[in-house]
Amino acid sequence: MLISLTGTPGTGKTLLAEELRSRGYAVLDIDRHVRDNGLLDERDEARDTYCVDTDALDLSLEEYRTDEIMIIEGHISHCVECDMVIVLRCRPDILAERLTERGYSENKVRENVQAEILDVILCESAEAGVPLCELDSSEDSIKDMADMAEDFIKGNIDKYGPGNVDWTGELEKWF
Ligand code: ADP
Ligand code: MN
Repeated sequence: MLISLTGTPGTGKTLLAEELRSRGYAVLDIDRHVRDNGLLDERDEARDTYCVDTDALDLSLEEYRTDEIMIIEGHISHCVECDMVIVLRCRPDILAERLTERGYSENKVRENVQAEILDVILCESAEAGVPLCELDSSEDSIKDMADMAEDFIKGNIDKYGPGNVDWTGELEKWF
């Protein structure tokens, strides 16, 4: 059973993944997996990012499609065929702060904040039609988020969205 832990960069995926790992869950860093397995396609110079061969990525994860839970973490993890998706969210101003602190260029900060406001990853994630959970890291601590993620994974699938988050009030400021 594959569970995607996705979200715009800076929304807290890695931190939550670490907390879930410490609670005994198996977690796979999808970016590292992609690099280790040579699944990178060409580089998109304009957007300063890489493209990934999603068919090859799906195939490469066959060994994890068992009864055991495997959480795959990363902002492309929802592109994999998963059984559940956890989408992390973050308020635009806080997200911008986190990404600026990380050393992202002004353009890259803006691009990611705009994507967060437009629910890009949420919409992509919803396409698969599998249970989806939306958690807001600008609102809740990592421990609370891990509690909610566990509750969701254990079957409480109607409680966590989607639709609990709405950043459209920030549109004017970032577009
Ligand atoms: P991602 O892996 O999605 O890019 P990270 O896990 O690296 O995000 O987190 C980005 C930053 O946001 C880190 O500095 C982290 O400490 C902070 N952060 C993430 N989640 C929370 C949270 N729930 N509460 C407070 N700070 C958070
Ligand atoms: Mn990360």
